[in-house]
Amino acid sequence: MNVYDSQRMVDLLAPLGYAPVDEAAAADLVILNTCHIREKATEKLFSELGRLQETQQARAAQGSEMLIAVAGCVAQAEGPEIQRRAPFVSMVFGPQTYHQLPEMIAKIARGAGQVLNTDFPTENKFDSLPAATVARNASAFLSVQEGCDKFCTFCVVPYTRGAEYSRPVAAVLAEAERLIAAGAVELTLLGQNVNAYHGQDADGAVWSLARLCVALAELPGLQRLRYTTSHPLEMTDDLIAAHRDLPVLMPFLHLPVQSGSDKILTAMNRRHTADAYRRVIDKLRAARPEIGLSSDFIVGFPGETEADFAATLQLVKDVGYAQAYSFKYSRRPGTPAAAMPGQLTEDVKDARLAELQTLLLAQQQAFNQRSVGQTLPILFDRVSKYPGQLIGRSPYMQAVHAEVPADQFGRILPIKITSVGNISLGGVAV
Ligand code: SAH
Ligand code: SF4
Repeated sequence: MNVYDSQRMVDLLAPLGYAPVDEAAAADLVILNTCHIREKATEKLFSELGRLQETQQARAAQGSEMLIAVAGCVAQAEGPEIQRRAPFVSMVFGPQTYHQLPEMIAKIARGAGQVLNTDFPTENKFDSLPAATVARNASAFLSVQEGCDKFCTFCVVPYTRGAEYSRPVAAVLAEAERLIAAGAVELTLLGQNVNAYHGQDADGAVWSLARLCVALAELPGLQRLRYTTSHPLEMTDDLIAAHRDLPVLMPFLHLPVQSGSDKILTAMNRRHTADAYRRVIDKLRAARPEIGLSSDFIVGFPGETEADFAATLQLVKDVGYAQAYSFKYSRRPGTPAAAMPGQLTEDVKDARLAELQTLLLAQQQAFNQRSVGQTLPILFDRVSKYPGQLIGRSPYMQAVHAEVPADQFGRILPIKITSVGNISLGGVAV
C-alpha cells in the first residue's frame, strides 16, 4: 500500500512541476514513506534521515534547497518525536492526509517552518486525489479498502491507518479502467483488510469483494486479478466461489494466520481457531485445486509456549505453503500485547523463527520444484540485470527469469520452467 500511496503522491505533485528522480541527491523534495508495523521498519527511518541530512547540507553549500518530508505510519504514530529528533524535516504527515501535500508545500514556501499533519480529516483522501497521471507498470496496484477495525492485539494498523473504509464501486471501476488504458494487464486490489470490502454502488447497494471481482473480471484488457491482504474471518463463500468461477482471479492467495495455537490466536484477538482456518483452506482448495497459498506468521507472541509453537509448525505442515512471511513478535508501543505478561527473550524468538523459516523454505522449494517441466503463463514486468533477460511472475507469484526479447515487456508469454533457484525459477519461451 505504501507503493500505491507513493505513486499517488507522484500524481499529486506532477501539476506542481515535480517529477521522480533516481537519486535523492538530485531531488528538490525527498519524501520518506514509512512503515510502523515492526520496530525494525521504524528504526530504518532515523538512520535514513541521518544520511539525508548530509545530502541536504551538501546541497545547501551549493546554494540549492532540498526539502525533506516524512510520510506514512511512522509519521502518523511518532510525528512530534520526528520533529524533535530531526528538525531539518519540514513536513510530517500521515497516510490519511497526503492529499493535502500541495497545500503543505505552499505553507513551507510561505515560511511556515515545520508542518505536522496527522489528523484523520473528515473529507476523504480518495475524493481529493487527481486521476493517475504517471505511466504504470503492466502490473498495477489499486487501493480499494483502507484501515482496519479488527484490533489484533499486536498490531498498530488500526491506530495508524485508521478505521475501515471502502472506496465506492464507481471510483474503483473508473480507476481500474484508467490503469488498464495506461497498459496494466494485471491489477492487485489492496487493503489492510481487503476482503472486508463493502463499498457502495451508485444506488447505495453494498458490494462485497467477490462482487467487485466479478465486475472487474468483465473489464476488457484485464488478464489477471489479485487482492491482498485478506483476513480468514472474511473468506466468505461468495469470495471462495469467485476463485472457482473467475479465470482472471489468479490461483494464489495470501491469507495470514499468524499462529497455529488457539490459545495464542485468542490472545491475538484473531477471532478464529486454527481449525476454522484449515476449513477455509479446504474450501479454497475444493474451489480451485491448484491454488498456491501464502501466509504471515508471528513467532514469540507473549505467552507462546513450546507447545503453542509446535502447533504453528503443525499447521504449516498441514497446509503446505507456496511461500510465506514470518516475523519475530515486535512489541509495538500502545498495543495491548505490548503490556501482556510472558514477553519472550530474543534468543527464544530467534530460535523459533529459524525453525519455522527452515520449514517454510523447504515447502517453497518443493512447490517451486513441482513447476519444473510445466509451461506457465508469465507476465514479464521487470528488467533483469542480465542482458537479454526479463523477469516475470507466474500465476502463483513465483519470480521467473527467461530470455525474452525486450519488446515483450508487459506481455504474458508461455514459458517452460526449466530450473529452480533459491527464490526464483528459470525458463524458456515456447
Ligand atoms: N491485515 C493483515 C496484515 C497486516 S500487517 C492481516 O490481518 O493478516 C502484516 C503482517 O505483519 C501481519 O500479518 C503480521 O504477521 C505482521 N505483524 C503485524 N504486527 C506485528 C508485530 N507487532 N510483530 C510482528 N509482526 C507483526
Ligand atoms: Fe492488523 Fe491485520 Fe489484525 Fe487489522 S486484521 S489489526 S491490519 S493484523
